Amino acid sequence: MANRILIVEDEKDLSRTLEYSLKKDGYDTICAATGKEALDLVCQEPVPDLVLLDIMLPDISGLEVCRQIRSFKSTSDISILILTAKGEEIDRVVGFELGADDYVVKPFSIRELKLRIGAILRRQQNSKTTSKATITAGLIPLNRTTQSTVVAGEEVSLTSLEFRILDSLLANPGQFMSRDDLLKKVWGDKSGVRSRTVDVHVNRLREKLGSTNQLIETRRNVGYRYNIPNPEH
Ligand code: CA
Repeated sequence: MANRILIVEDEKDLSRTLEYSLKKDGYDTICAATGKEALDLVCQEPVPDLVLLDIMLPDISGLEVCRQIRSFKSTSDISILILTAKGEEIDRVVGFELGADDYVVKPFSIRELKLRIGAILRRQQNSKTTSKATITAGLIPLNRTTQSTVVAGEEVSLTSLEFRILDSLLANPGQFMSRDDLLKKVWGDKSGVRSRTVDVHVNRLREKLGSTNQLIETRRNVGYRYNIPNPEH
């Protein structure tokens, strides 16, 4: 089935151009010109795979839209690519902290945008299909198909960033990963994300993990690691 993209953009010309160009590439698209409209559409079936999200919207900020998409259970896994104007570095950083997957700075080339979209969707697809459905390492099970874990018998869904952080930590049990390691691994080399953003997402992940979060060890100035429980204890 074609990937579905929600375009949230109030500049009509840009919105139309994006729609035309993405449709030509075989994407299924829907458009919203305000934040409220975006939040309505994002909850309707079929839920989009990715949201292109302009920050400067006429009603509520794109950042607020991003935060709300991440907070609803049914939409928390949707990939979000932020469209930000030049010089809005703060917005970009806040966007990442709110769980956006990537950003492009306006004015951007459609080609560049489509490469980013392709990369995000491939990542999404890989984490859904490649590896075995579940790895159970120690006490933190990770379901790759649903990007979720189980805490106290309850399924807890993770955002794609939280999933990738946990996946990276579980893949290297006992080893510390620095914030830079995680930045590269989870966000990619040239993301421009600050290490503080890593802390924000690790903290959010820890909250979701409940009591099992004691298995994720934080060491000041070193980084994070998944601590394998000692079987003798
Ligand atoms: Ca705008």
